[in-house]
Amino acid sequence: MENKSKQWRFKVKKDLTTSVSNFNIRSVLGKLHGAIDATDPRPPPIFLGHGDPSAFPCFRTTPVAEDSIVDALRSAKFNGYAPAIGVLPARRAIAEYLSSNLPYKLSPDDVNLTSGCAQAIEVVISALSQPGANILFPRPGFPAYEARAAFSNLEFRHFDLLSDKGWEVDLDAVEALADDNTVAMVIINPGNPCGNVFTYQHLQKIAETASRLGIMVIADEVYDRIAFGTNPFVPMGTFGSIAPVITLGSISKRWAVPGWRLGWLVITDPNGILKETKIVESIHGCLSLCADPATFIQGAIPKILEDTKEDFFKNILNILTHASDICYERLKDIDCLTCPHKPEGSMFVMVKLNLSLLEDIVDDIDFCYKLVKEENVVFLPGITVGLKNWLRITFAIEPSSLEDALGRVNSFCQRHAKKQ
Ligand SMILES: *Cc1c(COP(=O)(O)O)cnc(C)c1O
Repeated sequence: MENKSKQWRFKVKKDLTTSVSNFNIRSVLGKLHGAIDATDPRPPPIFLGHGDPSAFPCFRTTPVAEDSIVDALRSAKFNGYAPAIGVLPARRAIAEYLSSNLPYKLSPDDVNLTSGCAQAIEVVISALSQPGANILFPRPGFPAYEARAAFSNLEFRHFDLLSDKGWEVDLDAVEALADDNTVAMVIINPGNPCGNVFTYQHLQKIAETASRLGIMVIADEVYDRIAFGTNPFVPMGTFGSIAPVITLGSISKRWAVPGWRLGWLVITDPNGILKETKIVESIHGCLSLCADPATFIQGAIPKILEDTKEDFFKNILNILTHASDICYERLKDIDCLTCPHKPEGSMFVMVKLNLSLLEDIVDDIDFCYKLVKEENVVFLPGITVGLKNWLRITFAIEPSSLEDALGRVNSFCQRHAKKQ
């Protein structure tokens, strides 16, 4: 009993679990998936909340990637520990892969391997966390950034993405938010959750703004080259000579293998500005503490990047184009949902919920709970990505299931519509 009243030193001062679970897609979807009754005889559940299409036969990764893993494993060359920044052949292959899209050549030394893009986020946020500093994040955005910053006690501020301007960055807001302690701004392009792709001109303006403010740009390009609208994908590193850029990416999305956990953190800074600060050292220090991606996956990277046929990517882009068309068209038939911008990249779209047309729905979370209970369809509440009373929908599923799901959403909305 005496022990209970004692003041233990290891008491957590700040409740990180709450701040983190508010920004946790997995925990929100876990609760929604938990609401599904497995004994229910209705049509099977359809999951439009997450962004992992790997289970669908039409999104299965290329045999080239699978064979590369088998070959690396059987070579017995990748059974030991790797260097903290990753094995050289993999770093060289990633440098080549990214340089093919840049006006300058990256060196393998610019590339650091991570356990997926998620660990690249963890490392860059940890490296930038210092007392008094702050960082600028997009809203809506990807909640792992907020969660990581909360864990590292790094203050974050939000600038808006503008729904009526194709989800471009509100650059005036960036200028207004930044102060002498701002270290970086984050962009996600192609966009999660909005499915937008920034133009060359807009990316250049972002770089010029960052340069004026004296901050770096962290470019989350995990949807690298997953662009199927009019704007081609342009890497932020293109403007690395205007403001230094740290590029984050992975094979998770383009190769549809998020479970393989192979990503990268790349210094795209042709003028070497970051080298003069302690940032690169800090990143290396952080990586030397982290667990590395499995070495046989590292060993497979050169073949995966060099030998994957264009046909594989073309086929995935065709499916995504078709699915995003279905999604956009079906949403037009649903009165209480509006889609301000047709998706042109990534796997997601944001839609606005018009609560005034619904009778008994109080907010986006309520909408998602009732939808899963009544129709076995899962959407992600917008609040999870920073926009209350919006919804994030993934269209990266088998197109026939997508039609089915949006049909069920339509009946749900009609059933809950306010009576005239
Ligand atoms: C999926 C995703 C990540 C995480 O990627 P992994 O390689 O699976 O760790 C990071 N950022 C964004 C925007 C994502 O959508």
